[in-house]
Amino acid sequence: MRRNAQPNNTPAVALSGRVSVDLAAISDNVRALRALTPAPHFMAVVKGNAYGHGLVEVAEAALAAGADWLGTAQLTEALALRRAGIAAPVLSWLYLATASSEIIREAVENDVDMSLGSPAQLDVVAGIARTLGRPAAVHLELDSGLSRGGARTEDWPDLVAAARNAELEGTLTVRGIWTHLAWADVPAHPGNAAAVDAFGEAVRQAREGGLEPELRHVSSSANILDRPEFAFDMVRAGLAIYGLAPADHLDPRISGCARP
Ligand SMILES: *Cc1c(COP(=O)(O)O)cnc(C)c1O
Repeated sequence: MRRNAQPNNTPAVALSGRVSVDLAAISDNVRALRALTPAPHFMAVVKGNAYGHGLVEVAEAALAAGADWLGTAQLTEALALRRAGIAAPVLSWLYLATASSEIIREAVENDVDMSLGSPAQLDVVAGIARTLGRPAAVHLELDSGLSRGGARTEDWPDLVAAARNAELEGTLTVRGIWTHLAWADVPAHPGNAAAVDAFGEAVRQAREGGLEPELRHVSSSANILDRPEFAFDMVRAGLAIYGLAPADHLDPRISGCARP
């Protein structure tokens, strides 16, 4: 006979399939983190169904509390925000090879910014924008050591040149340049300063190549809490807006954040 498969220690919440989320805590956390960072722009990262807290509800709470950008990994989540009537700027940094051209087309039509990390990805998006007769807004990603996406420093000049050509053709607008630090959760790691130096050089090359990126962005939660000098024009806050610690020594509750 088969025993009950449900382990005794399963929390009740998993059985009911529902969790209740305190959206006021999300709003309070966004306000507390905004006050901490010198960056003029603040992106609330809502990937993965807002870290399991509810995509649209969290996005609305974060925007009401002063976030002015939203970030998702998948384009489908960015489009879900648009379908819910959210008009705020949204950046999606998925690896474009996994998205169909239909979804990329919808993203351009719905003013969803996309991250580009190679001339090949750029060609796909610029080609779709060309058929639509309108430019796609993009953020170029530098791989500063994480190796999870983006152009490596040696490939950066080719990406800049391709982006500039597409701007002149009217198929792309480079709105941002960004990177994600490999040692973000160890803010004192010397690799971070080296990565930020490489990022500064990439921005310099981009400007020299004729691009005028309005938004340089590097920091995720750990650096918002520990390295304000990495703030640039925008920070991308995930874990901390959910009251979760990005590293053992970085409990966002110290800055007044709560679990929603
Ligand atoms: C997840 C993610 C963030 C947010 O990181 P947290 O540590 O959760 O704040 C920022 N940027 C990118 C590219 C991410 O994938």
